[in-house]
Amino acid sequence: LKSPYHGGHLEVIVGPMFSGKSEELIRRVTRAVIARQRVAVFKPALDDRYHAAQVASHAGRAIEALAVQDAAAIRAHLLGEGALLPDPGQALPDLVGIDEAQFFGPELGPLVLELAGAGVRVILAGLDLDFRAEPFGCMPDLLARAESVEKLTAICTVCGAPATRSQRLIGGQPARFDDPVVLVGAQEAYEARCRVHHTVRR
Ligand code: ADP
Repeated sequence: LKSPYHGGHLEVIVGPMFSGKSEELIRRVTRAVIARQRVAVFKPALDDRYHAAQVASHAGRAIEALAVQDAAAIRAHLLGEGALLPDPGQALPDLVGIDEAQFFGPELGPLVLELAGAGVRVILAGLDLDFRAEPFGCMPDLLARAESVEKLTAICTVCGAPATRSQRLIGGQPARFDDPVVLVGAQEAYEARCRVHHTVRR
């Protein structure tokens, strides 16, 4: 049930949208819970409040998580710098899981390395590439530093081959390279695509 690594370490699960990253995070966390380990799972909040939430996969499985605004909030929650820790004397969890890790800023790196150094099994799930197929934020650095990396694939919606990229569609058309990440009022969708069928308009 335990990870093969001795002591604290970093596991990273990456791949495009729909590749099963959340499912794999849920699977690993569930096994730790069965083994009676203490786990804490975080995800980015879309608003500016901490709140109880879930990590849910597209296939419908879910586990409890805490939605937080940034890496500092995870730090405050786990290390007691702030009013969030229910019991300030409480030890660190055995396992810290973080979903959608690519949305946390550069402060995520030092925090997860500190946790791993303090004996925590840290599991990150997130996109390795953005919609342009460029390395996403803090992920390249953490992929390099991790003990274990799992790259998952989805199924290309065009040809059925393994999909490694997330196709962004705006009004049914491939997004442009310099389209803003958030487009107010646009009809947006994402599809899993292979290298051949992933398109970015220039
Ligand atoms: P991720 O966290 O990587 O976005 P999830 O774990 O949320 O992935 O969802 C994976 C699930 O999405 C699959 O098990 C499958 O049920 C569903 N799915 C929908 N579209 C696709 C696709 N094109 N390729 C693979 N799985 C897909």
